[in-house]
Amino acid sequence: MKKILEELKDARTIGIVGHIRPDGDCIGSCMALSLYLKHNLPKDRTIDVYLEPIPSKFLLWEEAAFVKQTNDNHIIYDYFIALDAGSKDRLGFAESYFNEAKIKVNIDHHISNTGFGDINLIIDKASSTSEVLFDLFDENKIDTEVAKALYLGLIHDTGVFKHSNTTEKTMNIAGKLIAKGISFSKMIDETFYQKSYIQNRILGRTLIESILVLDGKCIVSSLSKDILSLYEAAPADLDGIIDQLRITKGVEVAVLLYETRDQEFKVSLRANGDVNVSKIAVLFGGGGHVKAAGCTMKGSASDIINQLTNLINEQLEINK
Ligand code: 5GP
Ligand code: MN
Repeated sequence: MKKILEELKDARTIGIVGHIRPDGDCIGSCMALSLYLKHNLPKDRTIDVYLEPIPSKFLLWEEAAFVKQTNDNHIIYDYFIALDAGSKDRLGFAESYFNEAKIKVNIDHHISNTGFGDINLIIDKASSTSEVLFDLFDENKIDTEVAKALYLGLIHDTGVFKHSNTTEKTMNIAGKLIAKGISFSKMIDETFYQKSYIQNRILGRTLIESILVLDGKCIVSSLSKDILSLYEAAPADLDGIIDQLRITKGVEVAVLLYETRDQEFKVSLRANGDVNVSKIAVLFGGGGHVKAAGCTMKGSASDIINQLTNLINEQLEINK
C-alpha cells in the first residue's frame, strides 16, 4: 500500500480531486493528502487540489483558499488522484484532468467503487477515505494540520463514531490524531452538530412532511425546488436530515429526495437493518455503502418513491 506514496516522490506534478458536492470525508481526505505531500516533498513540486465550492464550516486550513474550482489550467499531471469518489462521473468538473493524466490513481472506501483508475486502492472495510490515507502515511510525518483533516473525515463518515462502519481501528486512529493536538471538540461542534437557522427550518419542514410506508419500516420525505427556495436552502443545508429520519423508531430504511432540476431528484438512502441500500442505488447509476448510499433519479417524486419502496420491500420480504 505504501508503494503509492513512494511513487509520488518522483512526480513533478500531482493533482488531487474529490467528488461533487464535497462532504467532510471528501474535503478532509483532499486536504490531508495535499498537505501531507506539500509538507513532506521538495518545495518545487506542483500539488493542486480540485473541489467544488467548500462549505464555509469546512474552511479549516489557510491552504483551502488555494483549492481550484475551475478546469481552465492546461496541464497534464504526472499523477492525478481521485479521493472518496465511487465512480468517475462523481469527479465533476475536474474529470478531464483525471482522464488526461499520465497515471490515474483511485483511493476510496465505497463498496460500489468501479475501479476506474490505473492504480486502485479500495478498502471497503475502512470507515472513510481519511482512514485509508492514514494507513498510507508515515505516522511520524503527520502534523497537526494533516491530523485535523483526517479527523474531519473520520467524524463525518462515521457520524462522530456512531455508525456501524466505526471499528476498533477507526478509534485507534482517532486517538493517534487527537494526540497530535487538534481541537477536536470545537471541530465536532462547529462542523457536525451546529446548524444554521435555514438548516433548522428545512430540517423541521422535511420531518413534518415525512411519511411512513411499508408498515412503518420505511420513512420517506421529499423536497421540491419550490420548497428549497421558499426556505432559501441549498443542498449543503440538507446534511444530516437523512440521519434524523433514519433514527425514527421502527424504521429500517430512510429515503430523502430533493429536486435538483425539473423532474430530477437526488436520492439519499440509509439503512438500520439488513437492507443493502447500495444495491438499490447502483440500479439507478449511483452507489455508496451497504447502509448509506445515493443516486440521482428522473421522474416525478411519487414515481421515484414507488420504485424505491418496491425495491426496499423486496429486500425486506427476502430478509423476513
Ligand atoms: P449521501 O446520501 O450522503 O449523498 O451519500 C451517501 C453515500 O452514497 C456516500 O458515501 C456517497 O459517496 C454515496 N453516493 C451518494 N450519491 C451517489 C451517486 O450519485 N453516485 C455514487 N456512486 N455514489 C453516491
Ligand atoms: Mn467517504
